[in-house]
This record gives sequence, C-alpha cells and structure tokens, in this order.
Amino acid sequence: MLKLTGVETYYGNIQALKGIDIEVTQGEVVTMLGANGAGKTTTMKTIAGVLKPKAGRIEFMGEDITGMRPDQLVQRGISLVPEGRAILSKMTVLENLEMGAFQRRDHEVKQDIEKVMDRFPILRERVSQLGGTLSGGQQQMLAIARALMSRPKLLLLDEPSMGLAPLIIADIFRIIREINEEGTTVLLVEQNVRQALKVAHKGYVLETGRLVASGSSEDLLNDPKVKEAYLGVG
Ligand code: ATP
Repeated sequence: MLKLTGVETYYGNIQALKGIDIEVTQGEVVTMLGANGAGKTTTMKTIAGVLKPKAGRIEFMGEDITGMRPDQLVQRGISLVPEGRAILSKMTVLENLEMGAFQRRDHEVKQDIEKVMDRFPILRERVSQLGGTLSGGQQQMLAIARALMSRPKLLLLDEPSMGLAPLIIADIFRIIREINEEGTTVLLVEQNVRQALKVAHKGYVLETGRLVASGSSEDLLNDPKVKEAYLGVG
C-alpha cells in the first residue's frame, strides 16, 4: 500500500533522513520506534507531504506520490494526526470535525460525524465546547476523530499517547486497534514501545535517520538489542 524507497529529507543543510525504506501492507498496523531525534516525526511529515524529500521515492496504492502536497495526499487517503495534536482550540468540537472533512464532496459528512461521535462519546457530550477547553486525552481523541473525517485509507499517528495518563493511553490503544479492525491501515509512532508492538503487526527501528532493525512485532519484542534499548530489560 505504502512504499518508501531511499527517502532522504533535510532541514536546510541538516540531513534528518538518510535513506529510509519502509513498506506498509494494507490492513496492517506498522509502528516506527526510535529515540528522540531519530527521525520518526520527519518520516511521518514526509509521507504526509508536509516535508518534501530531497531523494527517494514514495508510492501509495501503486501511484508515485513523491513531493505531492498534503491536500493532494488527504484526497488520496492519507491523513496525519501530528505530534501535539494540533486541534483548532478556538473552534468547537463540531467545527473541528467539519474541518476534517473540508475536502470531501460527498453528502455523507453528517453521517460520519455521527459515526465518530458514536466511537468517541465524550465528543458528543462536548460537541459545542471549544477545542482548547478539552483535556489532553479528549483533545487527542478529537484529533483522531478529525483525521477519520477525511475517510483515510492510511492513518498516520504521531505519538498519540504523549503526555496522557495510563488509563487514557489504554483507551487510545484500544481505539487504534478498533480503527484498524474496521479496515484502516495505521502507521504509528510511539515512545510507548511495548504497547505499540502489542497492537502492531510489524515495526521499524530508526536511529539518527537510518533504519537499524525491522521485523514482525514478535521478533522485535524478542530482539535483545530492542529489549535493551527500548523495553528497559537487558
Ligand atoms: P521526537 O520523538 O523527538 O519527535 P523524532 O524521531 O520524531 O524524535 P525528528 O523530530 O524527526 O525525530 O528529528 C530528526 C532530526 O531532525 C533531529 O536531529 C532533529 O534535531 C532534526 N530536526 C527536526 N526538526 C527540525 C527543524 N525544524 N529544523 C532543523 N532540524 C530539525
């Protein structure tokens, strides 16, 4: 479904990605692991078109999408929930959801708003409240719900559990599993390595802009280097 080949991305003269090869198969949850600054967010932004790669190729559903704009990619079915959520704090919950569908031309937006509010009942309760007045966990749910409003085929989730309490994190992971079981493919960046590998089918490990390991989640959970570096066991 998604294939990155030799992707290199720069910030000015600083090379953040040094040739990334990633493959995501339709129906999977794939996770990207790595320390701060490894290049996970840069990879997500490059896939979503927020950053343009200087070299390499990105294919989605058989089409070369390298260098396309974010709005073109949303139209093709790629939706990013950025790190830090970036919900519209001065807009209501409902307006945030409507913004998520702004490129759609079909007449099922209202139906989909009902559907996402069924999935996130807290958003129905707070539908007229301003985004900025929600708790961190509620904002994350709104950010995911807003992304779903574009009917993505591939959902990119950048650290959805960041800064949230353990019970809310469990909720977020349950929701990721449900969204995937209903047919959406997910690429997930997480610091919460153990839970990420539990929900994912396979994973990639990044270090300073390069892939250093990849494999099924089970293999990565049993990989001594992954255990030592990311799971806190030697
Ligand atoms: P984190 O978990 O901290 O988000 P990450 O793995 O997502 O880490 P990136 O944010 O992709 O890492 O950063 C990769 C590299 O690019 C780092 O060395 C970082 O310092 C650098 N970088 C990120 N954003 C910028 C920027 N706007 N300008 C210059 N360098 C940047």
